[in-house]
Amino acid sequence: MKEKIYTIPVTDAFRQDCECPICVLEKDLEDKAVEFILGPSLMEPDKRDDTTEKGFCRRHLTKLYNARENILGLSLIINSHLEYVIKLMEDAKPGPGGKKKASLFGKGKTVAGAQKAIQTLDRLESTCEICDRINTTMERYLEVICYLYGREDEFRRMFKEHKGFCLPHLNMLLKSTAKYMSGDRAEEFVSVVLNLQVENLKRIYGDMDWFIKKFDYRYQNEPWKNSQDAVPRSIEKLVRYTELD
Ligand SMILES: [Zn+2]
Ligand SMILES: [Zn+2]
Repeated sequence: MKEKIYTIPVTDAFRQDCECPICVLEKDLEDKAVEFILGPSLMEPDKRDDTTEKGFCRRHLTKLYNARENILGLSLIINSHLEYVIKLMEDAKPGPGGKKKASLFGKGKTVAGAQKAIQTLDRLESTCEICDRINTTMERYLEVICYLYGREDEFRRMFKEHKGFCLPHLNMLLKSTAKYMSGDRAEEFVSVVLNLQVENLKRIYGDMDWFIKKFDYRYQNEPWKNSQDAVPRSIEKLVRYTELD
C-alpha cells in the first residue's frame, strides 16, 4: 500500500467537484512550498544552499514577493542567490583571447566568448526550488493515481465520475501511465481517461456556447444555466489553474 501522505490528498482531490483534481493537488503543493520558503527555516544561511543555487522561476519569484510576508527572509534568499549569480557571471567572462574567437554570427550561432555565459544563464533559467519541490511530489501523486485506479474499486468509481483534467495535467497523466501501469489495465485506463476528457471538453464547450449566445438579444431572457463562469473554467481547462480575478 502506498503511503497515506500521498493517497489521502489524491483521494480528497478526486472527491472535489472541480475541472481538474490534479490542479487541486498542484495548487496545494505550490501554496505550501511558498509558505515554507517564506517560513523561518531559511533564515539560517546554511539552510539556504538549495535556494541559493537554484533560485526561482518568474512565476514563483512573483508569488514569493506578492505574498508580502517575511520580506527580510525573501531579501536574504535573493541576496544569497545574487551573490552566487555574480560569481557564476565572473567565471563566464571570456579569458584572454576570447574576443579574437568572436567571429561566429548568424542564426543558431553564438559568439565564442558568450557561450559559457549562455550555458550558465540557460541553467539558471531552468532551475527553481519551488518547481522542484512541486515536481517531486507531483510524480508521487501520479504514481498513486495509477496505483489506486488499478487496485481500489471505490477510487475507480470516483475517477470515472469526475470531470476530466486540464490539458497539461492530462498530458502528465498519460505520460505516467507507461511508467506506473502495464498491459490491459494501462490500455483500459488510457481509454477511460480520453473518453472522460472528450466528454468533459464537450460539456465545457457547451457552457461556452451558451455564454456566447447570452450576448444575443434573442437569448436575453433565457437562464444562464451553467455558463456564468464558463470563461475562467475554460481557461483553466486549457492551461491549468490560474490566478484570474
Ligand atoms: Zn490541472
Ligand atoms: Zn518555479
